[in-house]
Amino acid sequence: MTELPKAYDPHDVEDRIYKTWEEKRFFHADPDPAKKPYSIVIPPPNITGILHMGHALNTTIQDILIRFKRMQGFQAEWMPGTDHAGIATQNVVERKLAKDGIKRQELGREKFVGEVWKWREEYGSTIIRQLKSLGCACDWERIRFTMDEGLSDAVVDVFIRLYEKGLIYRSNYIINWCPRCQTALSDEESQHRDVDGMLYYVKYPVKGSTKLKEEHITIATTRPETMLGDVAIAVNPKDKRYRGLKDKVVILPIVNRELKVVFDPLVDMKFGTGALKVTPAHDPVDFELGLKHGLEQINVMNDDATVNSSGGEYEGMDRFEAREAIVEALKERGLFIKSEPHRHAVGHCYRCHTMVEPRLSPQWFVKMKPLAEAAIDVVKKGKVTFYPSRWTKVYLDWMENIRDWCISRQIWWGHRIPVYYCKQCLAAGQSLVASDSCPGKGKPLATGHKPLGVIVSKTRPEKCPTCGSAEIEQDPDVLDTWFSSWLWPFSTFGWPKDTPELKYFYPTGALVTAQEIIFFWVARMIMAGLEFMGDIPFRHVYIHGTVRDITGTKMSKSLGNVIDPLDMIRKYGTDALRFSIISITAQGQDVFLSESKFELGRNFANKIWNASRFILSNLKADEVNTDLCVFFKGARLTLPERWVLSRFYSTLSYVGECLDQYRFNEAANAIYEFIWHEFCDWYIETTKTTIGQASSQVILYKILEKSLRMLHPFMPFITEEIWQRLPRSKDQAGESIMLTSWPHVQKEMMSKKCEAEMQEIIQLVTAIRNIRAVWNIDPKTDMDAIINVSDRSDVKMINDNIDLVKRMARVSGLKVGAHAKPKSAATSVVGAMEVYVPLEGLIDFQKEKARLEKEMGRMAQEMKGLTGRLKDKHFLSKAPEEVVEKQRQRKAELAMQMEKLKENLKEIAA
Ligand SMILES: [Zn+2]
Ligand SMILES: [Zn+2]
Repeated sequence: MTELPKAYDPHDVEDRIYKTWEEKRFFHADPDPAKKPYSIVIPPPNITGILHMGHALNTTIQDILIRFKRMQGFQAEWMPGTDHAGIATQNVVERKLAKDGIKRQELGREKFVGEVWKWREEYGSTIIRQLKSLGCACDWERIRFTMDEGLSDAVVDVFIRLYEKGLIYRSNYIINWCPRCQTALSDEESQHRDVDGMLYYVKYPVKGSTKLKEEHITIATTRPETMLGDVAIAVNPKDKRYRGLKDKVVILPIVNRELKVVFDPLVDMKFGTGALKVTPAHDPVDFELGLKHGLEQINVMNDDATVNSSGGEYEGMDRFEAREAIVEALKERGLFIKSEPHRHAVGHCYRCHTMVEPRLSPQWFVKMKPLAEAAIDVVKKGKVTFYPSRWTKVYLDWMENIRDWCISRQIWWGHRIPVYYCKQCLAAGQSLVASDSCPGKGKPLATGHKPLGVIVSKTRPEKCPTCGSAEIEQDPDVLDTWFSSWLWPFSTFGWPKDTPELKYFYPTGALVTAQEIIFFWVARMIMAGLEFMGDIPFRHVYIHGTVRDITGTKMSKSLGNVIDPLDMIRKYGTDALRFSIISITAQGQDVFLSESKFELGRNFANKIWNASRFILSNLKADEVNTDLCVFFKGARLTLPERWVLSRFYSTLSYVGECLDQYRFNEAANAIYEFIWHEFCDWYIETTKTTIGQASSQVILYKILEKSLRMLHPFMPFITEEIWQRLPRSKDQAGESIMLTSWPHVQKEMMSKKCEAEMQEIIQLVTAIRNIRAVWNIDPKTDMDAIINVSDRSDVKMINDNIDLVKRMARVSGLKVGAHAKPKSAATSVVGAMEVYVPLEGLIDFQKEKARLEKEMGRMAQEMKGLTGRLKDKHFLSKAPEEVVEKQRQRKAELAMQMEKLKENLKEIAA
């Protein structure tokens, strides 16, 4: 047995212990038929990622689950890895090259991708190193990357399977285009934000109208530049204002194109003037209208959102520049009516925040409806359960209205689309995009329609299977990053190969993630798991809240309110960080964080350390071999002994329940309450005089050892450090607390009656101690107390424990029974009982009265100040919420203290 150092220094301990765990391969798990499997796949952080509090919360939760399940006897596997993060990483490397004045276009595709790999070698595992500092027990030997050979094979395999099934098609479609990143974005990647724009009212003359008999339609638009691509005017057939327009033709201003008028119930009669300009190539609603009415699609923009050659004199202008120019031209021609401010939601690129340009473009899509059906079913049937349950509805709503998924991206970093085009076939008139030959252009391909000259293949084909030509080119696009991450729960275990790991560990136990990626990721994983594995990817989905600052604002670099987890680890230690953040995170709610919150974890670590030091320095090593159950049956135990055992097992049972239901904060708080307030503050306190006796020895040792195991998933390092120094019995010869078992709940040691009795004793002792404190009675001064209690069983119970009460409350004489209140006695009420302490001879009444009155005066002064401040509107609006809250708390506290003082004054007067 080695003695513990005086103070706990997490930095001395944490790195050393983590290294040992890793070296001894404790995180590694192989399939073991003798055990039940439990696995988690980590939400792979981006290789561009830097550790933030969201990661700290997310990984701590997963680590708790993995350590808990391992201790429960499961073969626990936590699969780690990183995501190549297509657009994000490409942007980072582009910015880096830009500093040296290099553009990716100048480098060319191959060299640029080489640069990204180099960047990844250098920086891509930063996030992994940072995750390790959180103590997570990931199986690092299995770490995967979404662009690994195996995972890339899985991606290609899936693409081909879906294409063969007719679930992947290429189509001209209106998509969200980021002119900055120059790529398509999925609907989920285009984030809607309110923007202060303008609504422009423009006259579109009706053909044949003259200066004398002017006839026109007024159109309201937020994007006049898209006029260049107008092909029709649409009105609602119910709209009486436009009945006269049947068979008329309208002239597009500036361009002078003739536009027909279509009637469609899709048109919103209440927006603008109720007449819509139709630009199928640049607006999703217009696109639908275009398909329905067989309209032409005129794309007027280049990839960078400048006007293209179909824009005539505006060619080359940026979209916003063109907007100004067109408005000017309309004014000159007298066709401009007015403009008014207009606030509306506009999509923005989730990566670079550039305003998205809806635009017609040939892209690859996955048909989602057929995949969604099964994924809706498993959630409805409860095979996949969401915690908290309210996310079930969010998931189902989205799935029932799911749209096809645009999976092609016009970037270079990612999985190249496994599609090859035969130049000969295409030159011979075969269309690359099925829609070109479809009636109502732009319609998605019919199931099973595979255009000639388009070859979908794992490897580059030597020649075209149709015409035999060797002039073959691969599609230049790459796949959406999520097209690899949706396979993560099985591709990481080796799919499409049928590996023993895949057989054993799939489906996984739980997925722990943030709400932002339910659609991006969680829903798609369920679809992929069912489609390719024929089984759900995970049984439970735990959605945790967002980490915010103490005022509820999301942490962001630009606001300067970020709390860096690595800083907190340096200051307080990893265990403190983990315990603090878990104990304040209620299920499904956001976390409000300030630096001071981490003191809770640090203080708790110190408390445990000090208690363990005390126990270890008083422990005789040969006592630890006693079996607790045998001991419990054989020994005559005191109330505090029976109580602490009961409280331990009640807590243990509750913690297990909480962890099974993802109520981590409740588990953490129960452990905290038990260890700090019950075990340390009361039980250890009761043993100060009996510590040499066998029963104190056994119980102190057993409860400490088992409490460490119960706490281990939350605070892995300090529990290991202390556990390693405990004297160990033969059956606990294990190498690490990590590998011990979760303590078994001993129901026979749990007793509600015993807990209630001890609770009563604690309240009585506390009442007497409070009286001593309030009346400033020196701890060394002898003091008597009277407990006025009439219930016979209470009298007996207290008398049975009278020595304990006297010792703990430090009173020399203690009377228990039906007693009247003596003159000049301090009083305290405990349930149906009253506690009296006669003050005669203990205090100088005159002096005490003066002291209390002076104190009362001081408090009244402070109260006045606080009340004034809390009414001051200026203070309330300027001061940080935390400060205001503290003042409010202080006020409430003060009011209570003043109330008590008043009572005390009354007692002396009586
Ligand atoms: Zn962008
Ligand atoms: Zn061909």
